Amino acid sequence: MMDTSKPLVYDLDQIEFQCILEKWGEKPYRINQIWHGLYQKLWQSPDEFTALSLEMRKLLSDNIEFNVLKPIKKISSTDFNTEKTLFQLYDNQAIETVFMRYRTRNTVCVSTQVGCAMGCKFCATGQMGFRRNLSSGEIVAQVLYYASLLSKESEKLTNVVVMGMGEPFHNYEATLSAIDRLNDSDGFNFGERRFTISTVGLVPMIRRFAEEKRQINLAISLHAADNNLRSSLLPVNKKYPLEEILEASNEYVLRTKRRITFEWALINTVNDTQEQAHLLASRIKGMLCHVNIIPLNLTDRYSGTGSTLERASIFKKILEATGIRCTIRLRRGIDIQAGCGQLMSEDN
Ligand code: SAH
Ligand code: SF4
Repeated sequence: MMDTSKPLVYDLDQIEFQCILEKWGEKPYRINQIWHGLYQKLWQSPDEFTALSLEMRKLLSDNIEFNVLKPIKKISSTDFNTEKTLFQLYDNQAIETVFMRYRTRNTVCVSTQVGCAMGCKFCATGQMGFRRNLSSGEIVAQVLYYASLLSKESEKLTNVVVMGMGEPFHNYEATLSAIDRLNDSDGFNFGERRFTISTVGLVPMIRRFAEEKRQINLAISLHAADNNLRSSLLPVNKKYPLEEILEASNEYVLRTKRRITFEWALINTVNDTQEQAHLLASRIKGMLCHVNIIPLNLTDRYSGTGSTLERASIFKKILEATGIRCTIRLRRGIDIQAGCGQLMSEDN
């Protein structure tokens, strides 16, 4: 087990790191060397900082935890385009991170919590319950792990989706500070527009996010167009009903002038009916939005199944007839349980 008394290296922002270096009597410019090594060279161990003295490298390894994530299992889908890594954390908890290769994209899907408190019925992470929040550094580390692997093949990460285990707006500060650290132009310099956060619809946090007027993309998991059905699938809907979510979404669009995405996991005969499609269309008509339809992936503790492509395309046509843009997403990583909603730590 790792030593929890040390700060995790990616939890520190530049100023905090600089304070530590000053306490060690180091010159201020050292922080630039360290930042460059960590976030541009993607070095993951003090030994790689060969320009630093041995003494300095020892101070780093004695006082700061560099092993933030320990990969303990890796599986690839049969087409090799999707890969899932199970990471052990310092307290022996575990999370999963998914990496997807498309033709022109290399996307990593990061977790923000161990488990999730929201309890959505069809989601494996929800089914395991909530264990703890990840720190910003544990979120950053998932991205850098894949960025570093890619750099060895002279490839680059192009997108980060915050859609793994957990509800990012239930761990708002750590999620946003992870994005800030990765966005830092002295460091990893990953543009805000290349991030997408997906939320189950925590209304106060959608409002807070809208006020920040960021360039980060926002997706809201809707999955149902009436409160009865939505509450039966997503218990959090009892606290934040559809009307409030859609009002906050509208506010977000008006404030930021950015398109919002609505996610819809199509469950056969449950939320894939023409009636639901018409109701959804009437509720979001005219909003600057896009609907992503994904046939439901199977999980152990939910008996619903994904809709057929035929039902999915009827659903899509109804939305399109109202002028709503919409895409049926390909299922990815299903054979390795790395699809949406299938992530959980192994011991669950
Ligand atoms: N907690 C956030 C982000 C993680 S879940 C959220 O709920 O939005 C990422 C996406 O996967 C969400 O849209 C979620 O509703 C969806 N999802 C969950 N379980 C699924 C399943 N079994 N099949 C397809 N999508 C699922
Ligand atoms: Fe949590 Fe999202 Fe899964 Fe719901 S769908 S339980 S919010 S991870």
